[in-house]
Amino acid sequence: GIPAYDKHNIFARILRGEIPCKKVYEDEHALAFYDINPQAKIHVLVIPKGAYVSMADFAAKAGDQEIAGFVRAVGKTAEKLGVVESGYRLLANHGPNSHQEVPHLHVHIFGGQKLGRMIA
Ligand code: 5GP
Repeated sequence: GIPAYDKHNIFARILRGEIPCKKVYEDEHALAFYDINPQAKIHVLVIPKGAYVSMADFAAKAGDQEIAGFVRAVGKTAEKLGVVESGYRLLANHGPNSHQEVPHLHVHIFGGQKLGRMIA
């Protein structure tokens, strides 16, 4: 099953303002900020403000408004980054096989350069 949410994870601490981040976009549903260890010219993380471990957890437990708000925030972040025309990639890791490091749902946005075809 999905593990219980750990409110001491690093993104929970960023949401509470206990740890700084380089903010790209924020609204009532989501926060977007630059990844501390960028894997592309542009590498941003978008997280919901609610306490969800992963996309599976979010899909199972979040309300429709929250889900819609989060998806819209991902789109707005991409717009704000100016990558909509040039293109970008979204990625969300879930669980051990994916090497998910931080147990708070986050969608990676990669862009600002030509990307490899896929990641496996
Ligand atoms: P995951 O492997 O869980 O999908 O990705 C976690 C991401 O969070 C990694 O790309 C990592 O560089 C990033 N990260 C980890 N700790 C911090 C932090 O304290 N601040 C920021 N901005 N990014 C972090």
